[in-house]
Amino acid sequence: MSDDLLDPVLETARNHAKDYLDGLSTRHVGVMHGRDELLAKLRTPLTDEGEDQTAVIDLLAGQADIGMTSCSSPRYFGFVIGGTYPVALAADWLVSTWDQNAGIHAISPFAAAVEEVAAEWIVDLFDLPRESSVGFVTGGQMANFTCLAAARHSVLRRVGWDVELDGLAGAPHINIVVSAAAHVTIEVALRYLGFGSRSLLRVDSDDQGRMRAESLREMLATLVGPTIICAQAGNVNSGSFDPLREIAEIASEFGAWLHVDGAFGLWARASTELSALADGIDRADSWSADAHKWLNVPYDSGLAIVRHAADHRAAMSSSASYLIQTSGAERDSIDWVPELSRRARAIPIYATLRALGRDGVESLINRGCARARQMADTLAAEQGVQILNDVVVNQALVRFGDDDDITRAVVSGVQKEGTCWASGTTWNGQAAMRISVTNWATSHEDIARSAAAILTVYRDVHQR
Ligand SMILES: *Cc1c(COP(=O)(O)O)cnc(C)c1O
Repeated sequence: MSDDLLDPVLETARNHAKDYLDGLSTRHVGVMHGRDELLAKLRTPLTDEGEDQTAVIDLLAGQADIGMTSCSSPRYFGFVIGGTYPVALAADWLVSTWDQNAGIHAISPFAAAVEEVAAEWIVDLFDLPRESSVGFVTGGQMANFTCLAAARHSVLRRVGWDVELDGLAGAPHINIVVSAAAHVTIEVALRYLGFGSRSLLRVDSDDQGRMRAESLREMLATLVGPTIICAQAGNVNSGSFDPLREIAEIASEFGAWLHVDGAFGLWARASTELSALADGIDRADSWSADAHKWLNVPYDSGLAIVRHAADHRAAMSSSASYLIQTSGAERDSIDWVPELSRRARAIPIYATLRALGRDGVESLINRGCARARQMADTLAAEQGVQILNDVVVNQALVRFGDDDDITRAVVSGVQKEGTCWASGTTWNGQAAMRISVTNWATSHEDIARSAAAILTVYRDVHQR
């Protein structure tokens, strides 16, 4: 490729990246400009002759600078959002540079081999059955979809129905049992698979959002036929874990498939201190997790893990005469994910795991939890501030004052103030601020500064 085309634009991108990363720890964390200001610059008629590449990159960087929340900032506590480890970012740059289509082995033996090893490491790190298969998908949503497609295949196969060939019309009925506190992506994944939201059976949950095992048992006792249960490791608000050992025992007693949504909670398995929270999780049939949350690799990166590789493959595999698929030991990733063409997203996962090692991953997870407790303790020391959940992992739910409006005003005030960013939610009928500490770089000092900023906003709202 001509250096004249390549060098200036890559150099420009590198400089913008460096400026952004250098400024990350001091940047205003909230968003500064919205749609109208952004469109004013971004929306121009598409020209016939095109524009200078470097100028296009400069323009994008300028608009990004004013129109993004700094969600990779160490003081971004919204949703459940990880940052990016330097090694993960470096590997991801190369993924785009190499532009490997990781769909089939014939195109990239390298991407396939990296995936194969990353899959082994993941299963080992989470201490799941070593025969489990792993699909590298875009995120938790598609991980839930992929695992539940394998579940659908398996429970119908066991009653003599091939859903891939014959579809769902006329198929034996499947009972789909979900926790009342299930993440919305479970419902959406099931919708994609032909199970409408109204057909789901919901098991009630306790005040921390944990499925009640006894209610599950009572429900299963009333059901006949193929059954899929969706449990959870890591409630998106409270971080709580369903009683997985009990649930796994019930599932096995009733012959049901057990799926566990562990988008961030599955990472607790990498920590000796925390793994008891997920006790019994290895007895499930499938697990979903995100790498772009707690492992801190760039978007988009999720993991669909299935104990029964044959069911996983049967649900996902595709073939066409022009594709050169392997019949041997080599891995074709299209057997494990919904996509055909896709980026080699296992490479940043491989790089991060290799660079951190087991101890590094464990320290990352433990640190997030310790910082969440630090935040909860600091805020709770203030008169009128209450922590609504048991802070078991990296999530804290905070209530300010005694009515919902105060909490909502503090959430929006903090978002405007810019030292840190947190979002709001409703928890057991009450407004709450959600704090999620998922970024590898969040320091003790970041929490201290953020807590001070949050309390300043609270005192201000309180005095009004
Ligand atoms: C974030 C999350 C998801 C969805 O993951 P995406 O990567 O955003 O698709 C699913 N379940 C839980 C519990 C989550 O926290």
